Amino acid sequence: MPIPDHEIVCVDCLGTCYPLGWYPGDGPLDPGTILPYRCKDCLDRWDVVVPDETD
Ligand SMILES: [Zn+2]
Repeated sequence: MPIPDHEIVCVDCLGTCYPLGWYPGDGPLDPGTILPYRCKDCLDRWDVVVPDETD
C-alpha cells in the first residue's frame, strides 16, 4: 500500500508542508483518499491524493 510522504515541498515557496490530521503511524490509506497538507511557511494548503497501488 503506498503511503504518501510525511513531508512534501511547497511548490510556491519551497517550504515544507506537513499533513493535516494524518501521520504515517496511522497505517495504510485507501487509494483515492485525499490528504490535506499545510505549508509551514506560506500556509498554503495542498491536497495529495493517495495513488492506486496498481500500475
Ligand atoms: Zn509555501
